[in-house]
Amino acid sequence: DRVFSRPGEPGCLVNFRPKYENFIGNQWIPPVKGNYFDNISPVDGKAFCKCANSTSEDVEVAIEYAYRCWQSWKRTSAQDRAKVLYQIAQVIEDNKEKLAVAEVWDNGKPIREALSEDIPDAATHFRYFAAAIATQEGFLSEINENLVAYHFYEPLGVVALIIPWNYPILMASWKLAPAIAAGNCAILKPAEQTPASIMVLMELLVDVIPPGLINILTGYGPQVGKPLALHPKIKKVAFTGETTTGQEIMKYVSQNIIPVTLELGGKSPNIFFEDVASENDEFFEKAVEGCAMFVLNQGEVCTCPSRALVHESIYDKFVEKLISILRNIKQGNPLSMETMVGAQVSSEQLEKIRYYIELGKKEGAERVFGGNGKKVVEGQLQDGYFIEPTIFKGDNKMRIFQEEIFGPVLSITTFRTEEEAIKIANDTSYGLAAGVWTRDNSRGYRVCRQLEAGRVWLNCYNEFPAHSAFGGYKKSGFGRECHKIALEHYQQIKNIIVDYKRKPL
Ligand code: NAD
Repeated sequence: DRVFSRPGEPGCLVNFRPKYENFIGNQWIPPVKGNYFDNISPVDGKAFCKCANSTSEDVEVAIEYAYRCWQSWKRTSAQDRAKVLYQIAQVIEDNKEKLAVAEVWDNGKPIREALSEDIPDAATHFRYFAAAIATQEGFLSEINENLVAYHFYEPLGVVALIIPWNYPILMASWKLAPAIAAGNCAILKPAEQTPASIMVLMELLVDVIPPGLINILTGYGPQVGKPLALHPKIKKVAFTGETTTGQEIMKYVSQNIIPVTLELGGKSPNIFFEDVASENDEFFEKAVEGCAMFVLNQGEVCTCPSRALVHESIYDKFVEKLISILRNIKQGNPLSMETMVGAQVSSEQLEKIRYYIELGKKEGAERVFGGNGKKVVEGQLQDGYFIEPTIFKGDNKMRIFQEEIFGPVLSITTFRTEEEAIKIANDTSYGLAAGVWTRDNSRGYRVCRQLEAGRVWLNCYNEFPAHSAFGGYKKSGFGRECHKIALEHYQQIKNIIVDYKRKPL
């Protein structure tokens, strides 16, 4: 039950700077126009630092530094690049607690999550892609006895990485690791809600990375994300965020005909067949805990299992257990190791969740748990963005079943047959993830294959191994992250055909 000190308190592991300039070429460079915005902690609702409010002028500066670095970085051997990635991983691991506190203060997530998932997973990603690039090989085709076709993986150049606020350091790592491993230099734009934790990481990396390899521009989407994605010298955009923003990004990249990968929203179904409850045992417990994962990271997870499809014959027993789990979830100071659910990222996000709770009631959904949009934390943190979890029972046609809420709100419905479960699960414009729970493996496999989602978990949920391809179907986007195939999204293939035949004398 350790409680970490808050920034500003004695013993705190992080000293945020009062003002962060942009991180470009391993230097802190003030924004050209000289403007900054306040960065608020969702934990207490107060501004704790200022960050550069960047514009297109800052994009120019970052591109210049990144290209200068690229002239040498593209020539480094895969082994030398791997070495840098291993060093980054080590720095992350050595500063695990400091980075976790920074992440909690910037985002509101509980420190036990940051310490057990976000930060170690970030380190794992750098190690994984270090190994992936060190072992990647080009290939050749023997066309005929004299003709050979060689294929080389080449980097693209300077790439733009635009990320959301829900897993700031981890989302940055998912993109940075394959991008730089492949031989590119990167300009990363964190979300305006969470610009500070990545800066704490960059302070630690100054002596490890060559200047210009990783550059960070903070600010708002339209002011700096857009000119970055539109810049003719940017050779690829990797984006994670909302589907509507993804649509804009696709328009930008069409201007310069460059590749793009999009990791977008979701409304993931979690399906519970009747056999999960046939015995009151560990499996049943695990399955219901899998359902309770809608509160993980305050529901601010792109794969949040926000729709539960429960077989009607087990509904009562299932919901009773679910509620008992929720009653035992500790919500409060995210810097306490006991806390399981922290604060929503921003007041806008809090209001959005409240809007959907009201909408659910208006749509006639039955309130099963919560549903008052109540603030749950008192005292020192009373201005933080904490909200109680809510469960509604309703119909998949309702907007609370169709639209991404990105908060701790679960919409449950029941089904009678396997066919009906698949139909409901696929009745969504999204296709990011899904969960299936059954003791019958052949049914599990059959259902997984029919679900329209890029990631399906069978008898588990929200596992994110570095070597497992992650990405969406339908309006959840395209491209894959986390597996070595992600490297290819940051590379192009050079093909050289050589004729070895000598002219007859
Ligand atoms: P968002 O789309 O509002 O913002 C994401 C990023 O894009 C931010 O850095 C933002 O400043 C930038 N941006 C906004 N408008 C822009 C524009 N016109 N041009 C360029 N950049 C622009 O998303 P968010 O609210 O920060 O994040 C939540 C969303 O992210 C949810 O929909 C969630 O599902 C999604 N998400 C998806 C995944 C995944 O892997 N599929 C992972 C995490 C989050």
